Amino acid sequence: MTRISFLPADVDVVVIGAGAAGLAAARRLAATHLSVVVLEARDRIGGRAHTVPHRLTRHRGGSLEVGLDMGAGWLHSADENIMQAMGRAAGFTIDETPPPWRSAALNLGLSDKDMAAFGAAFEAFDERVTASVAEGQDRPASDLFAAADSDEGRWNARMDAVCGALNGARFDQVSSADYDAYRDTGVNWRVGEGYGRLVSHLGRDAPVVLDCPVMRIDRTGARLVVHSQGGVVEARVVILTVPTSLLAAEAIRFDPPLPALAEAAAGVPLGLATKLHMTVTGAADFAADSQLWGRTDTAQTGAYHLRPFGRPMIEGYFGADLAWGLEAEGEAAFFDFAVGEMVGLLGSDFRKRLTPVATSMWGAEPWSRGAYSHCLPGHAGDRARLKQPVENRIFIAGEATADAFYGTVHGAWMEGERAAVEAIAALGLDRWDSEPRPTE
Ligand SMILES: Cc1cc2nc3c(=O)[nH]c(=O)nc-3n(C[C@H](O)[C@H](O)[C@H](O)COP(=O)(O)OP(=O)(O)OC[C@H]3O[C@@H](n4cnc5c(N)ncnc54)[C@H](O)[C@@H]3O)c2cc1C
Repeated sequence: MTRISFLPADVDVVVIGAGAAGLAAARRLAATHLSVVVLEARDRIGGRAHTVPHRLTRHRGGSLEVGLDMGAGWLHSADENIMQAMGRAAGFTIDETPPPWRSAALNLGLSDKDMAAFGAAFEAFDERVTASVAEGQDRPASDLFAAADSDEGRWNARMDAVCGALNGARFDQVSSADYDAYRDTGVNWRVGEGYGRLVSHLGRDAPVVLDCPVMRIDRTGARLVVHSQGGVVEARVVILTVPTSLLAAEAIRFDPPLPALAEAAAGVPLGLATKLHMTVTGAADFAADSQLWGRTDTAQTGAYHLRPFGRPMIEGYFGADLAWGLEAEGEAAFFDFAVGEMVGLLGSDFRKRLTPVATSMWGAEPWSRGAYSHCLPGHAGDRARLKQPVENRIFIAGEATADAFYGTVHGAWMEGERAAVEAIAALGLDRWDSEPRPTE
């Protein structure tokens, strides 16, 4: 890994943030002769793509180390996902097992007929959203729910539970036009070693200064002056990749201020999704890669991925207001909630079979303050506003600036590359100075 322990005084490009977008930008810029430094607030790279190691005890003795993804886990739209090809080329294991939400799930409390009715209700909802957007409307997506007292309307709460996982927010907080714009090819794969490990591997040569939060950017002079905890760097161009939650809160101050940037970021807030990894004894009772929802009649429920990768584990997933509320109570509240739901479904003995391993707390993390972005109703245009370059020398990129692959690693990566290409053009380099490196 290329880590820099001192700040250069002067560079062509400062990249702020070493998540997928920042690392992609740095990788693209490495193919030029431009001088580049990446300033990262945390003590690690990867941002919201982060894998932690865990040692599993084997049934017949010995142990096995696995990677648990605390943030991104799925190669969404895998057949169009650039990370997939890069992952394979770099020797990572791409697991094509269908996701639990696509396979026949263990749906306690729901008959096959109910499951079909739920699927049909969701499809009809999506069609109403698309039709409304085609008429030029951008409304709270929940406006397109079926009437609550209708047969179809009985599924609204369950759809809102799914929305909590998809968007980190409920449908009343989600722009119908933005929801409709998301591109999902329906193909979802995983990285066996962990998605976070893949992102860090691809960014391993980036010239990163860790533990170096940026506080202020002075744009009064001919060169941008970037003030960070590690010192001051001057740059011709800045690529800014921090989450919208931080931009909206003006956690990085501009001098003079950029109110339009903060306003656009506020229209694309981060929702919250939390992962709780648990081990389970007697895992063979469940089909590998199956799924269970805690309840079917409320949005205040978790999704439980049983035996991910066939491991003796369960991955709980909690979204939106439920996740914010449990985070406020502290990490242990997620395990208590999960145990309560699963005991309700599987019997009181089940409590003894579960052990918590790791819980993500992205809402409380100062460098994310949420999980992934959604546009507020009426703000579908804010992703495009957000990525407007400032004076052709400050370029903004990240999952939130992606049009159709927003909220994802591949969306963030492509946006990082886009910002790097814009920066290269702004610096007046010709095509031959800036050819991309061949993919590994
Ligand atoms: C629970 C969860 C599940 C997810 N599941 C998936 C999934 O299955 N598939 C998928 O594709 N995506 C998923 N995502 C989303 C995906 O992780 C993000 O969209 C993507 O990683 C965002 O990359 P980014 O570069 O835009 O932002 P980040 O990864 O947030 O990178 C921004 C970087 O900026 C740094 N930073 C912040 N402030 C400063 C500052 N002041 N100075 C310097 N550095 C700063 C941060 O530390 C961070 O490293 C998930 C996310 C979460 C939280």
